[in-house]
Amino acid sequence: MSQKVISFHYTLKDDKGAVIESSKGGEAMAVLTGSDSILPKVEKTLLAMGIGDKKSVKLSADEAYGPYDERLVGQAGRNELPEQLEVGMQFTAQQGAHMSIVTVTAFDDNVVHLDANHPLAGKALEFDLEVTGSRDATAEELSHGHAHGPGGHHHH
Ligand SMILES: [Zn+2]
Repeated sequence: MSQKVISFHYTLKDDKGAVIESSKGGEAMAVLTGSDSILPKVEKTLLAMGIGDKKSVKLSADEAYGPYDERLVGQAGRNELPEQLEVGMQFTAQQGAHMSIVTVTAFDDNVVHLDANHPLAGKALEFDLEVTGSRDATAEELSHGHAHGPGGHHHH
């Protein structure tokens, strides 16, 4: 199947219906399908929708960001991290081939407690989706592996 660029608005909610994040009121997000840029179940749902369609999709923690892994919780020396530190601050860390986001959960003068779980790990989620556009991907987008234009990458 040819790859498409789908534009959509989304509202992400937890399993109690509390809104975590929403694109409403801002720019619709644009994604290149088949590029692993969004959760597979969300992409599958978007591919089955037409422009103007609205749909909600529920994801278990496994279908979303995976289970919470206690082994990804650790600590670092206070001097290994920037002087300006706040609980909730996030850093990107290279772990083998993967970039992961590490969140500061607590710190004192000597030790910083870190959590490399995805902030939404272990959570069942629901996405309210609304497709606003769909088109074939350009050759340039296919070679870059991401969508360009509004809601996509703006690096050109
Ligand atoms: Zn690009």
